[in-house]
Amino acid sequence: MADKARSKRRHGAAGAADSPDDVSEPLAPGLYLLSTPIGAADDITIRGLEALRRADILACEDTRVLRRLMDLHGVPVGGRPMIAYHDHSSEDVRRRLLEDAATASVVYASDAGTPLIADPGYRLVVEARSRNLAVVALPGPSAVLAALTVSGLPTDRFCFGGFPPPKKSARQKWLREWSAAPGALIFYESPRRLAETLEDVVDVLGDREAVVARELTKKFEETRRDSASALASAYRKEGPPKGEAVVLLAPSKSPAPPQEEDIEAALRLALKEMSVKDAARSVADQLSIPRKIVYHSALRIAEEDAP
Ligand code: SAM
Repeated sequence: MADKARSKRRHGAAGAADSPDDVSEPLAPGLYLLSTPIGAADDITIRGLEALRRADILACEDTRVLRRLMDLHGVPVGGRPMIAYHDHSSEDVRRRLLEDAATASVVYASDAGTPLIADPGYRLVVEARSRNLAVVALPGPSAVLAALTVSGLPTDRFCFGGFPPPKKSARQKWLREWSAAPGALIFYESPRRLAETLEDVVDVLGDREAVVARELTKKFEETRRDSASALASAYRKEGPPKGEAVVLLAPSKSPAPPQEEDIEAALRLALKEMSVKDAARSVADQLSIPRKIVYHSALRIAEEDAP
C-alpha cells in the first residue's frame, strides 16, 4: 500500500491536485514544460516553483531570465546544470537534454508565458514523445488566453495565429487564410506594426470589432476595444504604444469571404478577355472584395502567364 502511494506521488509530478507530492522526493524523470509569468512575477504557480526547486536539470530559452525569476522567488540554482535551449540550438544540445530526460527530471521554460506557444520547445517535445519519455505540463500564464478572457469577445471558439508575417503582402495573404475562421481570431503583434496590421485587417477581412490587449498583468495593462479601422487610426495618430500586445478580432458576421484559390480562378477566367485593370475590377465587384487586393493578384497572374 505504502509502495503504491509512493509510486502515485512520484507519477503525480510536482504535486498534482489529487496527489500532494512529498517535496523531499526528487521529481520523476521526464521533460517538464513550465509556464512562466508574462509580467507579474507572482503569476508563477506553486507547482511550477516546486518543480524548479526539485528538478535535476534546468533548461530554458535564456538562462539569465530563468535565474532572475528563481532569485525573485528564493529558489536556489545550487550546483544544478542550467542549459540554454531554443529551437535553433544544435542537434547536440537537444539530444543531450533528451538523453538526460530519460533518467532525470528536466524542466524547460521559455522567457515568458507557455513554452511552444509562439516560443521554443516544439522540437524538444516532438522528439521526447518519439522516445516515449514522460512529457509533463506545468501550466500557467499565456498571453493568448489572458487576452481572450479580458477581451469580451466570444470565447466558445477561437483561432490562434501566432505572429503575422512582418511584410505587408505576406501578412495580407496570411490574414486571407483566416478569413473563414468561425470564431475569434487572436494573434501576437509588435506594437510597432499595430497600425499597419490593423489597416490590413480592414482591407482583407473588413472592418471587424477588434481588441488590443497590451501589457497584460503589468503596471500599464490596457485593453482597447473598437472597430479595427478606429484602432488603426488611433495608433497611426498616437504612434506605436509601448510594451507587448495581443490583437483579437471578433468573428465575421458576414458570409466567409472568398479564398485565394477562388479569386485566382475568377481572375484567370477574366484575364482571358480583359486587361489586368478591368479583370481586377470585374472580379472585385463580383466577389465583393477590395479592388486593391485583387489588382495585385491580377498583375501577378498576368505576369506569370505572359508568353
Ligand atoms: N509563449 C508566450 C505565451 O504563452 O504567451 C508568448 C511568447 S511570444 C515570443 C511574445 C508575444 O506574446 C509578445 O510579442 C506579445 O504579442 C505576447 N505577450 C507576451 N506577454 C504579453 C503581455 N504581458 N501582454 C500582452 N501581450 C503579451
